[in-house]
Amino acid sequence: MKREIKETIASIGKRLYERRLNGGYGGNISIKDEGVIYITPSGMPKDILSYSDIIVVDFKGNLLEGEGKPSSELLFHVAIYKERSDVNAIVHTHPPISTGFAIANIPLREAIHEEVSLILGEVPVLPYEMTSSKELAKSVANAFKKYNAVMLANHGVITVGETPEKAFRRAEELENICISTLVANTFGGVKEIPPDKLKALFSMFYKKK
Ligand SMILES: [Zn+2]
Repeated sequence: MKREIKETIASIGKRLYERRLNGGYGGNISIKDEGVIYITPSGMPKDILSYSDIIVVDFKGNLLEGEGKPSSELLFHVAIYKERSDVNAIVHTHPPISTGFAIANIPLREAIHEEVSLILGEVPVLPYEMTSSKELAKSVANAFKKYNAVMLANHGVITVGETPEKAFRRAEELENICISTLVANTFGGVKEIPPDKLKALFSMFYKKK
């Protein structure tokens, strides 16, 4: 198995912790590569992970390499990869502010900020399902048919990307925008980008691509 992929996961774990996007034990990170899944181990703080701690499993959850157990949330990682062939990395975190939005059941609307419109898209709050459950995996896989970031009620957030960096940046951006939304609400509320300007923004962005 590839050491550089394991190192990428360990490095994202440290960055999530350093940027206050995750408490020590919370969350999990995975990367899909050549038909296998590299994932953080169960019960280990993410800020002190080393590449040698990363577990490799197949799509049935069978252990291929590593000591210890894969994250207890492996089920929803597998479910997302099965649903989205374009997704190669998944970051699940418990960031304090966006988790607060999830607890309060406040979704992020697409039109509140350029970054949300272009990088995240609309971010829903999925109804509460117990951690590690099949119900959670089913609900998450269904949501990722349409979204690139979701909030889980009373739990945390999940972001995906074609690359690990993109999945990480989406988690970072989601937390930043939740902070901005919180501030906007203390100053009288969120005002959305007018629909015609939002349309123009999308057409400019997609033309550039
Ligand atoms: Zn969690």
